[in-house]
Amino acid sequence: MRLLEKKLKSIEPFTSSSEKNSRFCIGCGELATKLVKYSTEGAVILEKYCDKCAKEIEDSSPK
Ligand SMILES: [Zn+2]
Repeated sequence: MRLLEKKLKSIEPFTSSSEKNSRFCIGCGELATKLVKYSTEGAVILEKYCDKCAKEIEDSSPK
């Protein structure tokens, strides 16, 4: 399986409460609070993370 090159675009808090209640962090399974946007070849990928995992992604992404 080929891995798409993902570039961190932005990290935003959820704005809708229903969205917040129905999503879980794909990193650790906790309730997700952040929407992480990546840009790839011609597309934007959205992934949900909790505060902690979103912070780790932010810290480890190249500045
Ligand atoms: Zn998490």
